[in-house]
Amino acid sequence: MITFVGAGPGAEDLITVRGQRLLQEADIVIYAGSLVNPGLLSLCREDCKVYNSAVMTLEEVLDVMTAGQAEGNEIVRLHTGDPCLYGAIREQMDALEENGIPYEVCPGVSSFCGAAAALGAEYTLPGISQSVVITRMAGRTPVPDRESIASFAAHQATMVIFLSTGMLRALSAELIRGGYPSDTPAAIVYKATWPEEKVLRCTVDALEETAREAGVTKTALIVVGRILEDEYERSKLYDPSFTTEFRRAVHLKAPVEEQK
Ligand code: SAH
Repeated sequence: MITFVGAGPGAEDLITVRGQRLLQEADIVIYAGSLVNPGLLSLCREDCKVYNSAVMTLEEVLDVMTAGQAEGNEIVRLHTGDPCLYGAIREQMDALEENGIPYEVCPGVSSFCGAAAALGAEYTLPGISQSVVITRMAGRTPVPDRESIASFAAHQATMVIFLSTGMLRALSAELIRGGYPSDTPAAIVYKATWPEEKVLRCTVDALEETAREAGVTKTALIVVGRILEDEYERSKLYDPSFTTEFRRAVHLKAPVEEQK
């Protein structure tokens, strides 16, 4: 069996309990060495074979999986954050399927959640934004034209932008071209949840200089939106006058002099 495991955003204790167990039991681990915290590998058995996929091609990864499976091994493919985002797992799953090799996915805490925690932010604030756009600038991997940063920026919803720290000047220009006012609050979160985490707050037009001054060139997320400000409406869910499936509204008594 192959299990794709989300390693979490960085801190070693942010892997799931299931992910931890799978790592402890694995005969073979193939980990994404560019971003997965190597400290997690100390969970592995001493006789576990460990491969760093940063120096491997898809074909080489599949060869290790196929040979390991043939020998009856438990194999963990360890991806950063949650594997469903920019994880390149679909091509691995499809190849396994073609070869009749069973696989499962164990989710993880994505870095966009780690960044929210670092910021003390809620991405969905009533009256401000009820949507989160997760996207990236086109790099060597293209982004379909209909998904341009500017087209998403037109909504002025919360945006979390991956894989774009090297293109911040162009990112600012696209965000502003799309409709975010240039003074919209933004944040750069470097290595969220790692010991060396940095949280840099700025505005949409100042992303590039903010990152440059802090020496941040990679492994960061850009968060944009008015949820980073202090204004919002309180939630209906916890409003005393709001009845939910689990709680009846409390009707506050009118002041005594009006109770005739
Ligand atoms: N599957 C991962 C994302 C992989 S793409 C996840 O769910 O988080 C790699 C990009 O994710 C990096 O370029 C960076 O933009 C972002 N990233 C990953 N870990 C991060 C962290 N701890 N802090 C900030 N950004 C991170």
